[in-house]
Parts: sequence; structure tokens; C-alpha cells
Amino acid sequence: MSAIGIDFGTTNSVVAVHGSDGVDLLPIDTPPPNWLGLGFEKIMPSVLGVGVDREATFGWNAKSQPVDKLEAVKRLFATEDTVRIGGAEYSVELAASLLFARLKKGAEEAGAPLDRAVVTIPANSRGVARFRTKLCAGLAGIDVTALINEPTAAAMAHSLSAGEDHTILVFDWGGGTLDVTVLETVAGVFMERASKGIQRSGGLDLDNLFEAALLVDLPESATWDEKDRGLFRLEVERAKILLSEQPTTNITLPDETKREVHRDVLERAIRGKVEETRGPIDQCLQDLSISASAIDHLVLVGGSSKIPYVRQFVSEVLGKEPATGADPMTAVAEGAAIAGAILANELDADFFVSTEHALGTISVDERDVEEFSVLIGRNHKLPAKAQNGYRPAHSGQSSVTIRVIEGDPEVPLDHPDNVILKEWDVDLDPSRTQDENAFTIVYEYDVDGILHVNVTSDTTGDMLLHEDLSFGASKDKAGLVSLAQSVNETMAGAALGGGEAGTKPSAEVDADSQGLLEQVRTKILPFVDEQETELLEGLCRALEGAIADEVGNCREALETTARKYAYLLL
Ligand code: ADP
Ligand code: MG
Repeated sequence: MSAIGIDFGTTNSVVAVHGSDGVDLLPIDTPPPNWLGLGFEKIMPSVLGVGVDREATFGWNAKSQPVDKLEAVKRLFATEDTVRIGGAEYSVELAASLLFARLKKGAEEAGAPLDRAVVTIPANSRGVARFRTKLCAGLAGIDVTALINEPTAAAMAHSLSAGEDHTILVFDWGGGTLDVTVLETVAGVFMERASKGIQRSGGLDLDNLFEAALLVDLPESATWDEKDRGLFRLEVERAKILLSEQPTTNITLPDETKREVHRDVLERAIRGKVEETRGPIDQCLQDLSISASAIDHLVLVGGSSKIPYVRQFVSEVLGKEPATGADPMTAVAEGAAIAGAILANELDADFFVSTEHALGTISVDERDVEEFSVLIGRNHKLPAKAQNGYRPAHSGQSSVTIRVIEGDPEVPLDHPDNVILKEWDVDLDPSRTQDENAFTIVYEYDVDGILHVNVTSDTTGDMLLHEDLSFGASKDKAGLVSLAQSVNETMAGAALGGGEAGTKPSAEVDADSQGLLEQVRTKILPFVDEQETELLEGLCRALEGAIADEVGNCREALETTARKYAYLLL
């Protein structure tokens, strides 16, 4: 067995596999010749492009296109539903799912089937961004066995065990954002104690500053067209990366002539941006009322942390040398693979995934003051379950309002850390007594921190509500099916967004008898087309019919179907 970890990064994505010899990175994409040797051999830029025939292009191919490409789709996860690429509009979910599908294809070509994986998410991310990560991986046919935080993964890649008590500062400066996180480890859990960042600060900004500094000496740039500018941009980034290793390098200008560039020009251009990174570090320490000397380990992550000037600056601020051992560009994926191996019991170590916020309901105390009553505490091991009984305050009541809140019970209710996940009315029968109208709510976090809520009547046992709180992300299952179809067709070479989603019968398979049959029938069948319905029903009947030597095949076929439609089973 081998566990796979995916760092679905804003700028670059990395797939790592934990096997019997430790962690390996999969060569999922191939950089162009002039980018070889710069540490990008096992990395795929998270770039989606539209090619000349409107086919989807990915990774290095897309990044090398001067125009018609989408970079940093992950930045849009929390706020946008659609995005424009090459003059047409696509859903953010389609764009991200295609990138996941490309990672799956790359991994499979490298000999590692990618049906399930641990996927990382930014520190403290929640709500729709968290849900979408799982959804988009699922749409690409990757079952997410756990979502874990990027800083936790980075710490694990540095063999920092959660079993010992220590304080770790993870400084993650990638292409688009800076995230500083202080983790403490206690008895198997990495706990995020403080997390501060700068939303729009990263390698892209460093490229902008370096480019501006270089353009001062290139007046001819005024005549460059969009394509020239796009190519120059890539040269600027490449030069920035080379300058992490050597004091000078060359860039090729659009007219094919070369210019020598020096490290001190880069350092001068980015100095201000680098100094700004002190802010979040200081804020984290202040929040925890600790000094830099309380940090046991400094972990530098993200490509921008490879710049010698940045490493030196952060080391000086904290008075501590960074931990060595894992490459800042790949540490997060490596840690995710290690976490996957631990969670699958392939590796013996102390680690589990835990809730990042307390969960509760808003109740009203005897003085009519609203308060956060905690049902599941912060840092509780996942999956987690709690239940709460309710008895209406009056007889004849026709409904009760329930508000579920996630956050920190120690701060005021209206603090931004507190988020009301859902508010809803449970309908009651006004002809009944208070006792007859009593009901129970069961709250259940799955291993990904997605909350499922069930409300049942205590008297009748009837289900009054069944919902998973997916934070308002698209729950139109018919829409999801056609999205999954678009992903498949695009990966098979169809034009992006062109053509109607075709009907493709699935000749694939699924599961473990009763539970599997129920899943297929209640969660998948209502949303697939007629042809597939017929096929799946046939398989279900055959499995039930238990024709001895066919059972294995039917089960396998239905199991594959369940994996394919993992996003419907959420
Ligand atoms: P993300 O987490 O946003 O996906 P990465 O950690 O992959 O980002 O970092 C990408 C950024 O790091 C890019 O801006 C890239 O130019 C920069 N980068 C990568 N390697 C180096 C290097 N050796 N020196 C300087 N910058 C680098
Ligand atoms: Mg990253």
C-alpha cells in the first residue's frame, strides 16, 4: 500500500507518495528545457489554459502560454463562483476540478494510481474553500481521505512529531500569500495556536517588483505587445529563482538578446515586501504573549522562502536557524503523504486530525442573553459526534429556531472568528404537547471537518431534517453530475466549455453489499441519466440476486461507480 498526499497550491501543485522506502515525489509534469535544474522537476504549475482549438492546457504548457490562462484559481475559492479564461466564462469548480484531474492523470502516468489522497488546505481555512477542495478533488475522481492544514503537513515533513511537546513556527511564503502559523504539539495533535498572514503577498508580487526595477533600464519595452510582456514575465521569474543560487544570471529579451541581471537589484527591489513579513510574525507572538525564544523550531515553506535574503531576514527576526531537511517547495505534499500513511496505519506515529473550532448552538440564558453553548470543543479528534435534546418552551409551538455556530466560545458572539453555519426552523406539530414535540439533534463532523446534522422527533423517530453543512457551495447534484461529465470530456480532449455534456454509460463498479446498494440507490441513481440508471439498477439487481460467481464483479463495478460519484456521497 502507499499513501498519497496532494499540495493543491495557489501557484504550484505537488503530489507525494509514501511507500516502503519513505516519501517520493511524483513527476507529474515536465518543465520546459530552460526551467530544468531549478527545482521544478516534480512540480506542476496550478495553471489552466485554453489552447488554440479551445482545448484545455495544463501546468507548464499553460504557464508557458503568453495569454488565455488562469493562474491561482485557489485564490478564488472563498469568494468567486466563475472565472474568465480566454474570453469565456467557466465555473471556479470546473477549473479546479480539471487541475485535480490533471494531477490524477500525471500520477497515473508516473505509475501511481490516484484514487484517494490526503489533500492540504491553507491554515485556518474553513467554509466554502474547505468544502470546494474536497468537492473538486472528488469531481476529478479523487476521494479525499482527509483534509489537513498546510502548516501541519509542513511540520510533519520535517519529522517534527506530534507526540513531543514543542512550539513550531511555520513561515509559508508561496506565490500568492504569506501564512505564518504557530503550532503546538500535545499528545498526538498539532494545534494551531495563532495564525496571521498577508492575503496578497508572495512570489507574484516579488516578480512585479523585480520586473519594474528591470524595466527602468529597458525603454524599448514600451513597444512590446502582450505576448512579449508575457514571455518577459516568465524570464523575470526564472531569473529571480536562479538568483537564489547564484549572484548573477541572464534574461532573454523579446528580441532574443540577453541582459545580465544581479542579485542586489532583486534584493533592493523586494526589500520592502520582505520587511512586511515581520508584521504577521510579531502578531502571532503577541497574540500568544510569547517571545521569539519560545519557538523551538522554525520551518520555512513555500518557494519564496528559498530566497537567501528572505531566509536570512526571518532567521534574524526570530533569532533561530530554519529547520533543514525538506524542500520548502515540496514539504507540504510530503507531509500530507506522511499523514496519509499514519491515518492508514501504514506508519506508526502520533497524529490525528482534529477540529479547529468549537461547535455549538446559540442558546439564550435566563437573563435573555445569547451565549455559545459548546457541543464539540476545539481540537477534538475527528470524526466527532455530539447530540443535544430539545424540548420546546411552550405547548402549541409550531417551530423552534436552531442556530449552529462554529468558532471560539471565549470571544463575543459577533466576533469575526464566530461563524453561524446555519440557522433553521424545525417544524413542530402545534397540536402536540411539549414532551410530544421534543426532538434530538445529532451533530457529526466527518474526518474532513464537514458537519452533518440530523434532527429526529423523540416521539415518532421521524427525521425532521438531514443536512450536511457544505457552507452554501453548490449543492445542485444534477449540476455536479454534468460538471463531472465536463471534467471527463475535457480530459478526453473535448473543447473547454464546448458541446453538450454527452451521455456516457458507466461500465464501472462499486461496493460492500447492503450499504453500497443503499448508497447507489439513494444518492447516485436520482442524479444520473436514464442509460446509467438502467445499467446501475441492473448491477444492483444482479448483486442482490447473488449469482455466486457474478457477485464479485458486480460489487467491484458498483464500488467504482461510488468512487466516481464520491461527490454525491458527501
Ligand atoms: P504556492 O504555495 O502559492 O503554490 P509555492 O510554494 O509553489 O507556491 O511557491 C511559488 C513561488 O515561489 C513562485 O512565485 C516562484 O517563483 C517562487 N520560487 C520557487 N522557487 C524559488 C527559488 N528557488 N527562489 C525564489 N523563488 C522561488
Ligand atoms: Mg503552498
